[in-house]
Amino acid sequence: MKTSLRATAASCLGVSGKLSVRRDVFGYIWGPMDRRLSVKTHLQRIRGTAFNLCVFLVGHDPGFGGWFDQDEARQPQHAIDVMRELYAQVGVGVRKIYWRYIPVAEATGYFSLDGAEATDLTEDFSGPNDGLDVFYVQLITDAGGWSKRNGSCDKNKTGERTGSVIEVQGSNSTASLNFGGILLAHEVGHYLGLAHADTITNVMGSDTDGDGIGTINSTSVNLTTSQGNTMKGHCSIKSAC
Ligand SMILES: [Zn+2]
Repeated sequence: MKTSLRATAASCLGVSGKLSVRRDVFGYIWGPMDRRLSVKTHLQRIRGTAFNLCVFLVGHDPGFGGWFDQDEARQPQHAIDVMRELYAQVGVGVRKIYWRYIPVAEATGYFSLDGAEATDLTEDFSGPNDGLDVFYVQLITDAGGWSKRNGSCDKNKTGERTGSVIEVQGSNSTASLNFGGILLAHEVGHYLGLAHADTITNVMGSDTDGDGIGTINSTSVNLTTSQGNTMKGHCSIKSAC
């Protein structure tokens, strides 16, 4: 097991030496979380077909002096862990997490956003092209999140949204945190090429009124083999390591 952990950390994540499993292998840097973590299951998931994520906290300052308090800063890692479980259904792993933050001084105008401003945000800031960008913001006025469908792997591409933008949950209850995971999986699912589904129990939810904004709830947890195949065809997908 130990050999496997070190070998996977080195070959898949590029880390070696004194490891913290939670921090360096799972990528969870924001403190404890209300999730059971299985190292063995995680290693299997990240060794297979997978992609990397770059997560921005928009308006964060060290010491939680910005727009994020510690509980809100923990939300994305909980959401990532839920997304990992959901995507495991179709054999798509979330391998490496790059963390970034935009200080309040540089986040002016991005406390509260609509869809057009979400696009501006992804044009103004970018993480490494090695991972898909996800921006956590305080408030989105016209949806729970925004993402381009089948988004680019070139973050410098202008005139389009080059990442997903997600609103933090208003509550830190486990139910809200779990829903935040479904929301993350939904928006990143769009970026990986998925359209809305026609059933509420699917991660991609339904859009019965056809306004382009899907509806999801706590039961939106399923993915189909066909959706998995679409995701695996995205430019960000990396082969097994
Ligand atoms: Zn949607």
